[in-house]
Amino acid sequence: MISQNIDLNQLIAQWHPEPSELSISADDVQHFYGLGEARKQVLFDNDLQIRAGEIVIMTGPSGSGKTTLLTLIGTLRSLQQGSLKIFGRELLHVDQPTVGALRKEIGFIFQSHNLFESLTSYQNVKMAAELVGMDSSRSRTEIERMLTRLGLGHRIHYKPKSLSGGQKQRVAIARGIVHGPKLILADEPTAALDADSGREVVTMFQELAREHRCTILIVTHDNRILDVADRIISMVDGRIRSNVLVQRTAIMCKILQEIPLFQNLPPRVLSQVADKMDLKRFAPGTDIIRQGEIGDEFFVIGKGSVDILIDEKPTTVLQAGEFFGEVSLLKKQPRNATVRARDEVACFVLTDEEFQEIVKASTTFEEELRRVLFERQ
Ligand code: ADP
Ligand code: MG
Repeated sequence: MISQNIDLNQLIAQWHPEPSELSISADDVQHFYGLGEARKQVLFDNDLQIRAGEIVIMTGPSGSGKTTLLTLIGTLRSLQQGSLKIFGRELLHVDQPTVGALRKEIGFIFQSHNLFESLTSYQNVKMAAELVGMDSSRSRTEIERMLTRLGLGHRIHYKPKSLSGGQKQRVAIARGIVHGPKLILADEPTAALDADSGREVVTMFQELAREHRCTILIVTHDNRILDVADRIISMVDGRIRSNVLVQRTAIMCKILQEIPLFQNLPPRVLSQVADKMDLKRFAPGTDIIRQGEIGDEFFVIGKGSVDILIDEKPTTVLQAGEFFGEVSLLKKQPRNATVRARDEVACFVLTDEEFQEIVKASTTFEEELRRVLFERQ
């Protein structure tokens, strides 16, 4: 039985967010550079859903397409193919007024974004505030507070040439967030910073996310800041390779650890299982699997209970924490029983392919499976 202190209902509610809760929603995004012979695809089939208030860290080798994706999301590059919605507004064939309105809601922190050499730190930031029409009395205190917080209190009236690389980077950060954007896109924002200023920057990001539901997407190789991520995405060769909700993985691991089948798995395998599991819900009376059909999924009951029926005769009841569906996957045989929801049921589901991958990769998992099946007899 899964213990009561895990908030399964909250986990279930978060699993499939409502479209209105999403600040970024990408569907099958492709991108190409160049024309004719030189045309080269750099983004392939990318799907991504990010909720308002999430802090997302994107990593991946150089040249894998991170900046391209970031600039598409930021409307700095035109979307060529697929669908990309920012705050519900579609970017494919978007009109200029919509782009203008969206950009006011986005804060950009790009390393290559140069500051104006003739302007002081304060003036650089102020100009960004004015561009989005912030009223100047408010922006003055806002800017001074922000620069001070970023450790630039004594550099407010200095021009970039008298600032170090890290200080310039902090001015660029202030400039990117001064207008209170709902979405912050940051490309390596902490790379030039020492540990303390890097930490101050991510702490500010966390406050913006928690207090203002600001969504923050950070491209980084800086593993000192991984702990602030709600989600970690890794991009390889133009594709999102893995997309992990850190908290969800942690909760899933806790749940899985209470299930005998998973109890002795090494943490690495456990988190791998947790990341792959999908959640499915079934109304009372639904046949989750049917006897005689070919099976392609493995189920762990998270909530509710099910009847196991053989030739329509109920034989056993399984509860939260128990699992089913493994036999036909292991033996490649049709389902030997029907499994029917008795009440509202939520199951964590692995596809056949994922299940086999884990069985193959982990002798412990196979042993555990055999042990638990043996004890079930
Ligand atoms: P990352 O940010 O992960 O390093 P990029 O999105 O910058 O990756 O680049 C992805 C691929 O697209 C790379 O192969 C890069 O050489 C290519 N690329 C990036 N920008 C352009 C451009 N403006 N024109 C042509 N090719 C580009
Ligand atoms: Mg890049």
